[in-house]
Amino acid sequence: MKYKRVLLKLSGESLMGEQGYGIDPERLNDYAEQIKEAVELGVQVGIVIGGGNIFRGLSGASKGFDRYKGDQMGMLATVINGLALQSALQAMAVRTRVLTAIRMEPVGEYYDKPKAVDALEKGEVVILSAGTGNPYFTTDTGSSLRGIEIEADVMLKGTRVDGVYTADPEKDPTATKFDEITFDEVYNRGLKIMDLTATTMCKENNLDIVVFDMDTKGNLIKVLKGENIGTVVKN
Ligand code: UDP
Repeated sequence: MKYKRVLLKLSGESLMGEQGYGIDPERLNDYAEQIKEAVELGVQVGIVIGGGNIFRGLSGASKGFDRYKGDQMGMLATVINGLALQSALQAMAVRTRVLTAIRMEPVGEYYDKPKAVDALEKGEVVILSAGTGNPYFTTDTGSSLRGIEIEADVMLKGTRVDGVYTADPEKDPTATKFDEITFDEVYNRGLKIMDLTATTMCKENNLDIVVFDMDTKGNLIKVLKGENIGTVVKN
């Protein structure tokens, strides 16, 4: 395998599948199956999961919710998704631990790096939930932070698009895909892969990102094996 320890970022939005809200059990199982396969191949998997399928602080604020409270709601949403993924993985006999960036035992154990690394080394899937634990951040920033902390070889950003394009391929049919792109070029072209805080953390700490389509079964394993699907973002 090309990578031994990875930080996998899954967006909350992709969990809702075709439903438009909440958690689609079929999509959840698809993800869990791919993760199980990765673990069976000996890859250490840390996962940061988003919460956009349930609540986002920023969109809440535009409807009159207090931003600070809304962000806390968003972080709790990521814990709900984390628990859903944990139960799907455990149903497949994959040992999984949920760590939370906000203290809330017994829902999950309070995060610290040694605990996360120890569990990864034992072959457990570690779900790092509640983002960074702070408002005004996103789970993309949470995955940059946790990826750096757990010393992941790479951040794998699973999305519904198969990589980084010159323009939004869903809007511009002439857009072309990059196999590889530097962080500087991402800034220069104003490409929106993740928010700038998250991107800059990866750049400054030399954490490469692979953006790939996680909704096609088997793709996670292909990326782990180093197959050229998706786009690699690096210094
Ligand atoms: N959030 C936060 N701090 C964090 C991570 C997340 O306040 O460190 C909140 C924020 O309101 C965000 C929501 O949790 O909108 C859900 O996360 P995100 O939008 O990143 O989820 P995704 O887009 O991946 O589904």
